[in-house]
Amino acid sequence: MKKKTQVTIVGAGLSGLSLSFRLQQAGVDCLLVEKKQTEGGVIESEAAGDFLIENGPNSAMIKAEMAELILTLGLEEKVLNPKDTAKKRYIARRKPVGGFRLDPVPFKPMDLVSSQLLSAAAKLRLMAAVLPRRHKLEDESVQRFMSRHFGEEFTNTVVAAGLSGVWAADITKLSARSALPTLWQLEKEYHSLFLGLAKTLRKNKKKNKIGSFNGGLSTLVEALSAQIKEKWMKTEITGFKKDDQKWLIETSDGREVVSDYLVLTTPAKATSHLVKNLDPALSKDIDSIPHASVGVMQLSYPKKAVSEPLDGFGALIPPSEKLALMGAIFSSSVFEGRSPEDQHLLTCFSGGAHLPEASDIEDTKWQEQVVEELNQLIGSEAKPIVLKVKAWKNSIPNYPLGHHELVKSINKIEENNPGLIFCSNWLRGISLNDRVLESTKVSERIIESLARELSEQRKKGNGKT
Ligand SMILES: Cc1cc2nc3c(=O)[nH]c(=O)nc-3n(C[C@H](O)[C@H](O)[C@H](O)COP(=O)(O)OP(=O)(O)OC[C@H]3O[C@@H](n4cnc5c(N)ncnc54)[C@H](O)[C@@H]3O)c2cc1C
Repeated sequence: MKKKTQVTIVGAGLSGLSLSFRLQQAGVDCLLVEKKQTEGGVIESEAAGDFLIENGPNSAMIKAEMAELILTLGLEEKVLNPKDTAKKRYIARRKPVGGFRLDPVPFKPMDLVSSQLLSAAAKLRLMAAVLPRRHKLEDESVQRFMSRHFGEEFTNTVVAAGLSGVWAADITKLSARSALPTLWQLEKEYHSLFLGLAKTLRKNKKKNKIGSFNGGLSTLVEALSAQIKEKWMKTEITGFKKDDQKWLIETSDGREVVSDYLVLTTPAKATSHLVKNLDPALSKDIDSIPHASVGVMQLSYPKKAVSEPLDGFGALIPPSEKLALMGAIFSSSVFEGRSPEDQHLLTCFSGGAHLPEASDIEDTKWQEQVVEELNQLIGSEAKPIVLKVKAWKNSIPNYPLGHHELVKSINKIEENNPGLIFCSNWLRGISLNDRVLESTKVSERIIESLARELSEQRKKGNGKT
């Protein structure tokens, strides 16, 4: 027998879970289909002995949408703010004589003056960032966009390292318009990105905060899953087609679902496969979105075996250093309760667009190299305990130049196929907050559309009597 539902959501990562929760809160009949037995997608918090580790995302920027979700779920008490020590962020570069230099990223103008991070010429160039810079380009690489405003040295050191911690991308190929939409818009509005940033940062300083939960990010997943536990189907969606104004959805175990709305929150590869029959050209375009691969390695060190104080969020390494290690989060310095008192927990990232092979972290060759580089960075000769390694192959979408054209095509496809909606991280925003924002927007679209249909039906009904 075919299962009938108003909305079918494919994928129970944060996008699908938060969308399903929003819709069910509004009384919409919806079904969440996930191919794995576990939910949360790439969110994987886990206890490893006395340590709490995050194999995937490690923290979230809590902006308005995420804050609202946390409040609705009653999770405020479980939110964990970073320790005061986590305010500092370091950029690590090799010294010519061996070892690493850790320079704090200067967040205040006065810190910049005394900072060793940039040359005098780069600091002077930064001052010119107040000048307006206009352009009429449709899109531009992050590297060119940021260099126009802040100069090449700042871009290749601070921006490249900072963004490698989010996108693991090659910034000469990453689209500024799609990957940094807020900055792209600020330039349009203020012409000087520096002035635009100064204004918005001041406004949002208190509002946007990085955070996690006592039990790690999976706390959010568990709270969402608990609310929607009756509306699951644990199976893989293998295809779908239009059938008399409805979507007929097929599963790998031979079941069928008939639905008015079909929302895909699936990764690019899976989505490309699912839309092959609907639109082969779109399927190809989605498949061609580049993705970065990263290796994640969780290491513990006795505190007494490390000479650097690790008094910060972590250290990022500019890709120009050409190391296997992209950066390390000083996890035990960021959130309370992540490690025993006398131990450091470090979450290391390897690979990325510059050295994809180093993401192959299950290979002991890369593990040894990462540990060797990390030991130099943190000042240790100890052999750390490897708590966990995880290779995330092709897992972080890197929006290419012209990505906005794909977004336009998707809008058209949705218009031509009422009820079909795309809500994935390869489309509009990869951060956890972006995923909550996007699923909130989609839930509002569906709720409005259902309300419109209902009112039209009522009008028709009244006309008959
Ligand atoms: C290693 C790593 C570190 C990150 N760090 C951070 C961070 O610190 N902060 C931050 O904000 N963001 C971070 N991100 C990005 C962020 O975590 C992701 O963009 C976000 O979690 C994606 O959520 P999603 O629900 O859209 O997709 P996913 O989590 O990928 O979920 C998609 C789901 O769809 C399911 N699925 C696929 N195909 C099918 C099918 N045919 N049928 C049924 N189900 C299917 C999958 O099994 C999966 O559960 C990180 C990402 C990675 C990989």
